[in-house]
Amino acid sequence: MIKVVTILGARPQFIKAGSVSREITLHNDVREVIVHTGQHYDANMSDVFFEEMKIPKPDYFLGIGGSSHGAMTGQMIEKIEEVLLKEKPDWVLVYGDTNSTLAGALAASKLHIKVAHIEAGLRSFNMKMPEEINRILTDRISSILFCPTQTAIDNLENEGVDKWQTQVKLSGDVMQDGALFYKELAEKPSDLELSGEFVLSTIHRAENTDDEVRLTAIIEAINEVAQTCPVVLPIHPRTKAKLENLTVKLSVNVKVITPVGYLNMVWLIDNCKLIMTDSGGLQKEAFFFEKPCITLRDETEWVELIEHNFNILVGANKQAIITAYNEHRFANDYNVDLYGNGMASESIVKALVNNDS
Ligand code: UDP
Repeated sequence: MIKVVTILGARPQFIKAGSVSREITLHNDVREVIVHTGQHYDANMSDVFFEEMKIPKPDYFLGIGGSSHGAMTGQMIEKIEEVLLKEKPDWVLVYGDTNSTLAGALAASKLHIKVAHIEAGLRSFNMKMPEEINRILTDRISSILFCPTQTAIDNLENEGVDKWQTQVKLSGDVMQDGALFYKELAEKPSDLELSGEFVLSTIHRAENTDDEVRLTAIIEAINEVAQTCPVVLPIHPRTKAKLENLTVKLSVNVKVITPVGYLNMVWLIDNCKLIMTDSGGLQKEAFFFEKPCITLRDETEWVELIEHNFNILVGANKQAIITAYNEHRFANDYNVDLYGNGMASESIVKALVNNDS
């Protein structure tokens, strides 16, 4: 029997970890203890969230969030260390690139507990992004790196991973597993009136929300797109707050809604005609659901989507966004395997079990 402690803090991490947790429950020889740091706690992550998403409820809720990066990461390390000393797991599982990821990896590695990093090896090559710092440091102190793509493996090799005494595995992407699972459960948001085509958009990255010039250009472009096709915009609290101080306002053709639960989100993704986003996860979901994607960032970790022309990078340039929407010819043959075949979770759990036998 092996014991794993999973550290989660943000909604996308729960979505990703759900597939691995469901896989773990199929094995009699693995036990999972889930720790929710509280990093991104909101009403959409209440008990209902775990029930409707078929995700096991966390065993520990640390209630840390809302403070600066340093304070948050420090408090998490302290609390996670306490949990690890009590639970004595064989592995600590961390996902992605948040402060919870880094805190979990640091606390575990200092106690000589093996760390498995899921979604390892991704790089934006932009050290101003907090996510980039979290990923690089987490990769460096993990015992096993589960990479979603060959690009991620190439990035690690360029950093000299062969000298780190770390195992590297191409697992495929756990979000692909999730997309297949949740597609069957998708639900239309009940209070959203829609007829015909619509564009789906999200904006939440600090590089866009905290920069007035960038946010203004993005909003102006969205307003222009909305003149020809309604845009549905589930608004992130950070973006909402920043928009209140901006001269430019969202046009009435943009349907601004509060952040939606994931089953509603999957419905929106599956039914929209195009996605405009700065989210990492949504870029991949666009591909899983065969929708073209305009990415409102200067770089992306998911370069294979750009290389295959499923996605176009436009930054926060108003004209580039509008031109991409009106004129860009996206690839439309989605019959290409970029993220594995939906078996990532199974291969990850197998690797953890085999590493201990
Ligand atoms: N998402 C959601 N409801 C929303 C906005 C996003 O369920 O109102 C989902 C989205 O489909 C994706 C994940 O949350 O799976 C992405 O989260 P986010 O954009 O916050 O972060 P990132 O992917 O950039 O880490």
